[in-house]
Amino acid sequence: MRQETKCIQAGYEPKNGESRMIPIVQSTTFKYDSSADMGKLFDLEASGYFYTRLQNPTNDYVAAKLTALEGGTAGMMTSSGQAANFFAVFNLATAGDHVVASSALYGGTFNLFNVTMRKMGIDFTFVTPECSEEELNAAFKDNTKLVFGETISNPSLEVFDFEKFSKAAHAHEVPLIVDNTFATPVNCRPFEWGADIVTHSTTKYLDGHDATVGGCIIDSGKFDWMAHQDKFPGLTTPDESYHGIVYAERFGKEGAYITKATAQLMRDLGSIPSPMNCYMLNLGIESLALRMKQHVSNAQKVAEFLEKNEKVAWVNYPGLPGNKYYDRAKKYMPNGTCGVIAFGVKGGRAAAEKFMGELKIAMIATHVADAHTCVLHPASSTHRQLTDEELEAAGVGADLIRLSVGIEDVNDIIEDIENALKVI
Ligand SMILES: *Cc1c(COP(=O)(O)O)cnc(C)c1O
Repeated sequence: MRQETKCIQAGYEPKNGESRMIPIVQSTTFKYDSSADMGKLFDLEASGYFYTRLQNPTNDYVAAKLTALEGGTAGMMTSSGQAANFFAVFNLATAGDHVVASSALYGGTFNLFNVTMRKMGIDFTFVTPECSEEELNAAFKDNTKLVFGETISNPSLEVFDFEKFSKAAHAHEVPLIVDNTFATPVNCRPFEWGADIVTHSTTKYLDGHDATVGGCIIDSGKFDWMAHQDKFPGLTTPDESYHGIVYAERFGKEGAYITKATAQLMRDLGSIPSPMNCYMLNLGIESLALRMKQHVSNAQKVAEFLEKNEKVAWVNYPGLPGNKYYDRAKKYMPNGTCGVIAFGVKGGRAAAEKFMGELKIAMIATHVADAHTCVLHPASSTHRQLTDEELEAAGVGADLIRLSVGIEDVNDIIEDIENALKVI
C-alpha cells in the first residue's frame, strides 16, 4: 500500500461482520477464564490485554497504522509527545549514561533533556545541527547511548542532515532517534535515511484538528541490540522485574525495544492515552495525506507572498528556493515539508505585536501544525521573559512570527495577512 492508502486502511482489518471503524475499547480491564490464562500474559508468554495502563486494543490499532506509515516493526502510543520523547530516550539511557542531541529542538524537548533528565543523572551534549563530521564525532563518549534530532525543527525550521547524523551514530554503535512531528510520515520517512527509532507528537498534524494531545514511538526493528550487548544491558541482560526475561532474545530486534518500553516504562510511569483519544486521532490520520498536500501548497503560496511584501524583513520556509535548506528538503521531502513558516516584520517587536492584533482568520495560539491557521509571536508570549539579546541568542528574534498555515482557502489566509500588514 502507498502512504495515502495506509492512512485509511492500515492497522485494523475488520473480520466478517465487524465494525469498519476501529472499536473504542473504553475498558480499564479484561476478563479471563482462568488465572493460568492471565498468568501467561503477565509472564509475556502470550500476547493479550489485561490492564489499560499498559496496553489497550484501540490504542494498538492506531500504533499499528503509524508503524505501517513509518515502515517500522513495532509501535506504541503515549499520552503526549513529551511522554513519547521521554520514553524513547529513557528506554535506552539511564543514570550515568550520555546522549548526543541536535540543539535545534522543540523547546519542551530541550527542557526535558537539559533540565529534567539531567536531574535523573543523564548527561547531554547538544551539537549545532550544521556542525562538521569531526565536531559531531567529538561529541560522543564511551557512555553515549543514542543520538537525537528533529526532521524539521520547531520553531527554527532547520532540516535535519539524516545521513551525517546516522553515519556518526552507527559508527559509534548507537541508534539514531528522530522526532518526525513536523514532516509526518506522509512527507518524510526517517527510516529510509538511517534513523532507527521515530517519535511523534500526534497532537500536531497527525490529529490535525486541535482535538487531542498524544504521542507515539515507532521502532524500525533494524538496530541489532545483541550485537552491542554491553552498551544496552536493559535489552540484552535479564530483567529481574519480569522473571529474568531478556527482551532482545525473546522478542528479537523487531520487537525488543517497544516490548521493554511497554513492560517497564508504561507499567511504572503510566503515560497511556485514553482509547477515546486514540479513536479521534485515527480519524485525523485518515485524512492526513490529503491535508498535508493542502498545508504544503498553502504554505508555499503564503511564503512566496510574504517574501514579496515590503513590510516583511525576512522569511524562513524550506520550500523557498533561496532557503538554506531548500536542496536538503527536496532530497528528504520531495513532496514538501510542512505548513509552518517563520518570518519577521520590519519594525521589530512593536510592529509584530501590532500585526498580530489585526489578524482576523489566523488565530493567536501557542499551538502549531493543524487545520486552523494560527500565529505566535514568541517574544511577547512564550519567550516574553527574555531580553532582546537573549532572544537573539536563542535563535528567536524579537521580530520572529511563527505562522502555521492551515487548510483554509489560501486566498483568505493571504488577504488576512495582507490586511494586517497594512497597519504596520
Ligand atoms: C509539540 C511538540 C512536542 C511535544 O508534544 P506534546 O504533544 O505537546 O507533548 C515534541 N516535539 C515536537 C517537534 C513538537 O512540535
